[in-house]
Amino acid sequence: MNNAIVYLVGAGPGDPALITLRGVECLQRADVVVYDYLANEQLLNHAPESAERIYAGKIGGRHNQDQEEISRLLIEKAQQGKVVVRLKGGDPFVFGRGGEECEALHEAGIPFEVVPGVTAAIGAAAYAGIPLTHRDFTASVAFVTGQEGKDKDESAIDWDRLSLGGGTVVFYMGVTTLRRNMQRMIQHGRSADTPVALVRWATTVCQQVLTGTIADIADRAEAAGFKPPAITIVGEVVTLREKLRWYDSRPLCGRKIIVTRAAEQAGEFATKLATRGATVLECPTIRLVEPESWQLLDIAIRELPGYDWLILTSVNAVRFFFNRLVALGLDARALAGCKICAVGPKTADAFRGFGVRPDLVPSDYKAEGIVDEFSRLDLKGAKILFPKADKAREIIPCELKRMGAHVDGPVAYRNILPDRLPPEALFALEKRSADCITFTSSSTVQNLAAMLGEELLLDMLKGVTVASIGPITSKSCRELGLRVDIEPEIYTLDALTAAIEAHFS
Ligand code: SAH
Repeated sequence: MNNAIVYLVGAGPGDPALITLRGVECLQRADVVVYDYLANEQLLNHAPESAERIYAGKIGGRHNQDQEEISRLLIEKAQQGKVVVRLKGGDPFVFGRGGEECEALHEAGIPFEVVPGVTAAIGAAAYAGIPLTHRDFTASVAFVTGQEGKDKDESAIDWDRLSLGGGTVVFYMGVTTLRRNMQRMIQHGRSADTPVALVRWATTVCQQVLTGTIADIADRAEAAGFKPPAITIVGEVVTLREKLRWYDSRPLCGRKIIVTRAAEQAGEFATKLATRGATVLECPTIRLVEPESWQLLDIAIRELPGYDWLILTSVNAVRFFFNRLVALGLDARALAGCKICAVGPKTADAFRGFGVRPDLVPSDYKAEGIVDEFSRLDLKGAKILFPKADKAREIIPCELKRMGAHVDGPVAYRNILPDRLPPEALFALEKRSADCITFTSSSTVQNLAAMLGEELLLDMLKGVTVASIGPITSKSCRELGLRVDIEPEIYTLDALTAAIEAHFS
C-alpha cells in the first residue's frame, strides 16, 4: 500500500474551470475517483481513462449511500494501495462532511490530503455580482446551514446574533426551509425589507438568480417554482447586484453555440464566444493533414528566388508552408526576393509570426479581393506561387493566369474528414438543443454534411440559427439546402462574433 492516499478534493461550485491546479493534479494521478452529485462530471475527464469512477451521490440531503459507507469505501480502496480522489462539490470542509471522512481515515491510519475548493457561497456571490462584504454595507459574513433545527428544540444557530448585526448571512441547503428561516430572522430582529438573493446552480450555464426581501422571497420562490440546489444570500450587499452583475448579463449568456472549425483553430473563436457568455461546443469537422506528396511544394520552395509573388490564403497555409520551408533547412530569407500577399489580417499575422511582413492584404478578405487587387498590377510574365489546400477554389490561379501570370499551385495541406464528431456536440445536434451553429469555411459545412448525410444534417439543424462567415460559405450552406441567418459584412471571426451577438440581443 505504498501509494495509498486519499485526496479530498474540492471540485468548486460548478464551473469546471473553478477547480484548483492542485485538484487537477490529484485527479490526474487517481486510480479511483469517488464523486458527488454537486461535483461537475466534466472534471472526471482530468482522471486517467483507466481510473475507476464511483458515484457517491447525495441528492438534496437524501443520502443515497450513507456517510459511513462512503468512508468505508475510501478506506477499502486506499488499503488496496490505490490513489483515491474523493471529489466533493465546493469545498470539502464547508458543509461537505469532509471532516467526518478525514476522521475515519485518521482512525484507519490512511494518509490523506485536503485540497480546498471554491465553496458555493463564494462562487454564487461572484457570479451573481454580490460582494459578500463591502465597506459601505457590512464587514462580516456568516455561512449557515438552512437545514438545521427542524426537530431540534434548541437551535445551534445563534439567531439573535445572526439577525441583529448587519452582517451578510449565506444559507446553504436552504430552499425547502426558506420560509421558516426568513421568519426566524424577522422574529429575531432583522428588518423585513432586507434584500435577499437566491442563486441556483451558481457558476453554471443553468445559473438562476431570484431577488426579493426577507418578507417576500419565500412567496417569490414558490411562485417561480424555485428548486434546490441554491444559495440564499441575505444582506444589504444584495443591492449591489444591479450594478455589478456581469455573468448573466453578457449578451450570449445561456446560448449554446456549436463551432465547426478544425480542432487547431476552434480555440480562438470559442474563446471569443465564451467571453460573451455562450456555452461553446467544439465540433471539428475538418482534420488538416500533410499533402499526399510534398514533391511539388518542395520544388517550388527550392525555386523561391525565381518567384515574384507568394500568395497564401489561410493561417493553415502559412503554417504548413513555413513548416515545410524549415523542414527543407531554409528560413524566411528564402523569401527575400518575393513579394507577399495574405488574404486577410489573420493570415497576415501568421506571416508576421514567422518574421515576414506581407506587402499586400486586400480590403476584401477573400479570393475575389486578391484578384481585384492584382488586376491593378501588371502581371504579364510574373511568376506566382500559390500553395493551397487540396480543395481550394480555382479562382485565384484562373484569374491570375488570364492576366498573363504564370501560377504554380502546389498542395500544401489536405483537409479531410475527422473520424467522428465529439459526443457532446453530436448529442446537442440530435436533441436540437443548440441555439446556433457556426460555419467558417465551405469545408466546415460540406464535411459536416458528408459525415451526417445531407438529409440528417437538414433535419438536425431545423430551428437552429446558422451563422456563416461570408458569402462563399453561405453559398455552400444554401447548396445543401440550409438557410443562412447570420452573415457579417466583413469576413473575420470578430465580425462574425459581433453579428451573432447582434442577432441574439
Ligand atoms: N461543500 C459544498 C456544500 C455542500 S452542501 C460547498 O462548499 O459548496 C450542498 C449545498 O451547497 C446545496 O444545498 C446548496 O445550498 C449549495 N450549493 C452547492 N453547489 C451549488 C451551486 N452550484 N449553486 C448553488 N448552490 C450550491
